[in-house]
Amino acid sequence: MDQTGILIDRRYLDHNMGAFHVESPRRLEAILEMIEQTITFPYLSITPRAASDDELGWVHTPEYVEVVRATAGQDCVVLDSDTSTSPLSYQTALLAAGGLLECLDRILSGQIRNAFAPVRPPGHHAEAHRAMGFCLFNNVAVAAEYLLRQHGLKKVLVVDWDIHHGNGTQNTFIARDDVLYFSTHQFPHYPGTGHWIETGMGKGEGFTLNVPLYRGKTDEDYLYIFRNILAPAARQFDPDAILVSAGFDVAASDPLGGMDITALGFAALTRELLSLARDLCGDRLLIALEGGYDLTALTQGSREVLLQLSGTGAEPDIRAEASPQLGRELKPVLQHLSQYWNL
Ligand SMILES: [Zn+2]
Repeated sequence: MDQTGILIDRRYLDHNMGAFHVESPRRLEAILEMIEQTITFPYLSITPRAASDDELGWVHTPEYVEVVRATAGQDCVVLDSDTSTSPLSYQTALLAAGGLLECLDRILSGQIRNAFAPVRPPGHHAEAHRAMGFCLFNNVAVAAEYLLRQHGLKKVLVVDWDIHHGNGTQNTFIARDDVLYFSTHQFPHYPGTGHWIETGMGKGEGFTLNVPLYRGKTDEDYLYIFRNILAPAARQFDPDAILVSAGFDVAASDPLGGMDITALGFAALTRELLSLARDLCGDRLLIALEGGYDLTALTQGSREVLLQLSGTGAEPDIRAEASPQLGRELKPVLQHLSQYWNL
């Protein structure tokens, strides 16, 4: 058994929002090149399938799915201030959502323990009825529904470490207690949501956990948050699988972000998630690509994630230690979130 699966398909290059857009096919090209040239551990190569209308319909309205379908074959359709389509964007978006489902089938059947899914377009900003922030369909939200509806799991943890808040994922599950959504993100920043007071509605109260952060947070800060907020909440929630919206735009050199995460920081965060997955849900862990626009940081970070997933990466020398600034920022957050979880 290969421990790790990697979703690999050059069709993810087919969505193109123009030569000057940061969410460019070159991102995926760089990751695929890195895998080809530097990954030497044995892994299962997974080929995506298209998500079906029914599967998209768990998260998106039929009217919106139709809007995206209608862009197929069109040169350029503008769906949002920073999101547009090319002739093959609709098909590519179907493969992004469906690719995650293929990975989950392999994980749930026990063929692999975990997987990395470098997909485009990203998904966590996509809302039920609209495209947003480079995202067409909400890949991770569809994947969470798939685990609950098709695989019969009872509880799914979604961890979103992208620099931007995953408004679409949060809204999908805002009133639900079967999906715990946990997000760290720069704040204030695009898209403006993700204040710590946003903790869910109705029976979903307490099942949305936001840790908004000022810029400049380090590997040590993030590891501290994962260990002291995410881990205890996750252990109390006790999920059946963990999905990750992995944005490499928290990297120090990213043009859209202001955080200071290094390649080894991504290794450390992945290691934390692996340990939660091992203790709570039989290793079931799927890490899906969201943002990340500095190609070097994107490929180095992805490589560190892969090395950890495969069990071949060393333990990074990073301590879970909050800077004084982080300590001050976390005070009101911890106070608020402690209403719901023993932190
Ligand atoms: Zn992002």
